[in-house]
Amino acid sequence: MKKVVILGGGVAGTIVANLLAKKLRPDEAEITVVDKTGRHVYQPGFVYVAFERQKPEKLVHDERKLLRKRVKLVVGEAVKIDAEGKEVTLADGKVLEYDRLVVALGARLTPDELPGYNGAAHHFYSLEGAVELRKALESFRGGKIVVTVASVPYKCPPAPSEAACQLDYYFTKRRMRDKVDIHFLSPLSRIFPLEPVNPVVEKVFTEHNVRFTIFFNAESIDPKAKTVNSIEGETVPYDLLVMVPPHRGAKVVEDSGLGDRGGWLPTDKATLRTKAHPDIFAAGDCTDVPVSKSGAAAHFQAKVIAASVVADLRAEPATARYDGHVMCYCDAGYHKGIAMSFDYEHPPVPPPLGLKDWLGKRFLNRVYWLLVPAGRV
Ligand SMILES: Cc1cc2nc3c(=O)[nH]c(=O)nc-3n(C[C@H](O)[C@H](O)[C@H](O)COP(=O)(O)OP(=O)(O)OC[C@H]3O[C@@H](n4cnc5c(N)ncnc54)[C@H](O)[C@@H]3O)c2cc1C
Repeated sequence: MKKVVILGGGVAGTIVANLLAKKLRPDEAEITVVDKTGRHVYQPGFVYVAFERQKPEKLVHDERKLLRKRVKLVVGEAVKIDAEGKEVTLADGKVLEYDRLVVALGARLTPDELPGYNGAAHHFYSLEGAVELRKALESFRGGKIVVTVASVPYKCPPAPSEAACQLDYYFTKRRMRDKVDIHFLSPLSRIFPLEPVNPVVEKVFTEHNVRFTIFFNAESIDPKAKTVNSIEGETVPYDLLVMVPPHRGAKVVEDSGLGDRGGWLPTDKATLRTKAHPDIFAAGDCTDVPVSKSGAAAHFQAKVIAASVVADLRAEPATARYDGHVMCYCDAGYHKGIAMSFDYEHPPVPPPLGLKDWLGKRFLNRVYWLLVPAGRV
């Protein structure tokens, strides 16, 4: 009996596990998911916890209930991957051997990496962070809110500009928009990461009086002076700072000597096999695959990996390839949204901003639990 071990029960890991359980006969392979929390979190909902009245508990489901029965779930933290010996060690000392390993450990928030970040900045990149930001917004009586990112790469590249739009909408609804100055700082040469979509977002910012500065790469925060300072030498004051924290790849990947400088796992962008070890696949945020770190990318990559693992175990040619497909929605407030679809070869076509794509995002938020982890779509 072959053994497939999947590290991480997030978007990618859960879909791979369920697709393998569907495709492989029980006597062909034992499928094990290892997740350190045993809980599956829908991260796109964090925005709505911070800016709307989304209940945090609705975004968290028991991973066991999302997995097919025959998939084993081990709740524990992977602390060492021995790629030569083909085994994974967990924090409690348990060792899992594998024939194929799928690393789907997501990205790690590392706020300590930016001097001054802890205690000064708010964010919506964890459930706890989103709840704290909501409290800070509720008690905000006016002044300057700075929205920015600590560094690149980070998950869901459109999320910071989406947050700036959400802030505008939030304070408009509270009838105090005139008391709030929103200033967006981008490390890039434009405000929106996807160039073809940038003019659409820039127009929204201009129409809604969201100021922006480009080429602002944060170097430090001075919590006493309440300023954020850039490598370029600028100093921007704030009353409330909303900053996406620094990200790194998974700690176990770094500790096992498998990561690059950022801790990302070097991965072939088409086959999704890790470059150093073809029997180890990697999916989602933990890789260095040159696409947005997004649930959509994790989802599409999971399908390719499931097909390739089945082919490997059956000693058939593995022909599935990831084409870089990403599909995402951005909610600009005021019941308007934008959908973007692109891949390695095709940049997104500048989309119209409207109700249809706003509804699309709301619909996806609702049907996610039913369709996505099970690999039904
Ligand atoms: C605010 C926000 C908004 C977003 N909006 C969108 C959006 O609109 N559209 C979109 O497509 N994407 C969006 N994303 C990104 C999306 O949520 C992620 O890209 C996606 O979850 C990545 O899936 P993954 O499987 O790679 O990692 P994750 O879903 O993060 O799962 C990783 C899993 O690994 C587990 N784990 C980590 N370390 C260990 C360890 N050592 N041992 C065992 N288990 C471990 C974790 O517990 C977790 O369950 C957003 C993200 C954020 C933060």
